[in-house]
Amino acid sequence: MKKTFSLLLLFSFLQVAFATTGFSTFVYTSPNPDPTDTVPDNFNKEVLLTFSDSAASEYSASDIYGEFDTENIHYTKFKVESLKDSIKTIVLNDKNSCGYVPPVLGKINCPFGRCRRYFHYGMDLHLQTGDAVGAAFDGKVRIAKKSKSYGNVVVIRHSNGLETYYAHLSKLNVQVGQEVSAGDIIGLGGNTGWSHGSHLHFEVRYLGQPINPADIISFDEHKLVSDTLMLSKKTFSYAAKNYNKGLAKNYNSKTNVVNQNAGKLTGNVYVVKQGDSLYIIARKYGTSVSVLCQKNGLSTNSVLHLGQKLKI
Ligand SMILES: [Zn+2]
Repeated sequence: MKKTFSLLLLFSFLQVAFATTGFSTFVYTSPNPDPTDTVPDNFNKEVLLTFSDSAASEYSASDIYGEFDTENIHYTKFKVESLKDSIKTIVLNDKNSCGYVPPVLGKINCPFGRCRRYFHYGMDLHLQTGDAVGAAFDGKVRIAKKSKSYGNVVVIRHSNGLETYYAHLSKLNVQVGQEVSAGDIIGLGGNTGWSHGSHLHFEVRYLGQPINPADIISFDEHKLVSDTLMLSKKTFSYAAKNYNKGLAKNYNSKTNVVNQNAGKLTGNVYVVKQGDSLYIIARKYGTSVSVLCQKNGLSTNSVLHLGQKLKI
């Protein structure tokens, strides 16, 4: 009897843990692959083929997704293993948009990655129930509804292909299909769904795959880490192989940098690091994009690779 009770207790704990993180759609623990982890027939396969290609940066969100699903919170994920190590540039702060506005100013309660006893696909930010929650970037509301695990949740699709998720809200202020600007109040913070205490569960995803929000946003300084995100297989390396019973082993987004010398200048040779663009590098070393292009035989649209060496 006692044993049955403990098993039941364990089972309900696991259920809560899974539901809180949307875990059920991201199980990598089974020796049999999660059926949702394969590329479905109706998936826009062209995206997979062009992801590592420089042309991919010209794709808009509607080309990437091909549909605007207002029912399912989680978009079917693409297969991380199918990505190459090349980089796709995601522009986070283009001049025609409002850029980034912090959704809330609260401290991080629980970071992306290993948090408590489970893998956490978002960033928990402290707030009081009733505090305003703003859109992080300009975009279009894809989901605004109540979910069992997320509670009242808003999902915004951005033109660069990223989606941001805002969960556990006490009130929804937006409707599906509504265009929002960065900073617009999309709802009020709360403690709905599988949540223990008021907070904002904030996620960033690309084609359904979670990205560590800290790769993009400095939550201490309330600003973007960089104007661009260099998206590559490494961005999702936490999800691919290093799972052990639902816990990521040795996961640290900082170790995603493949080359130890990345970001360093030795003599006149610079090694490209994550987050770099020709513009950033040019500005850093007081030169211009055109000079960099000339010296390195590149065009302004060239795709940079992690660890690539550039003459400065
Ligand atoms: Zn959370």
